[in-house]
Amino acid sequence: MKIDREKLHSPFVEQVERVSGEVFANCYQCGNCTGGCPVSFAMDYGPSQIIRLLQLGQEQLVATANSMWLCVGCLQCYSRCPKGVSAASILEALRQMTLRKGEDHEDVGGLPFPFLKDAPQQAIISGFRKFVS
Ligand code: SF4
Ligand code: SF4
Repeated sequence: MKIDREKLHSPFVEQVERVSGEVFANCYQCGNCTGGCPVSFAMDYGPSQIIRLLQLGQEQLVATANSMWLCVGCLQCYSRCPKGVSAASILEALRQMTLRKGEDHEDVGGLPFPFLKDAPQQAIISGFRKFVS
């Protein structure tokens, strides 16, 4: 992993801080957020790891990780953070930034009819809001 000054202060990193309202330097990597996250087991990088990668300016690893799409917004991470850092806000910012680039996470047109017919409507609508720009 290459770390340099430009990456540490890249426009991407600064934008994530601005959109999320969080300061990455406040995180001292205790791991409490990841320890309490109900879906971290399925994430490429848990919440604390995502923050560490952002501290190190690793845009590519952060942007391609599935973590932002798996976060369910339960705020367990925020409630457990001794530094008041909201990993949930950071993951939400990453998701919004990706969708605003027009990069949908799901192909709505490709969803099979049996799935659309059987899935609860509320789940489908909330899924569209989360995964589609
Ligand atoms: S808000 Fe997201 S990152 Fe935080 S604990 Fe819940 S699922 Fe994990
Ligand atoms: S709980 Fe807070 S300080 Fe600890 S790793 Fe997570 S964000 Fe960082």
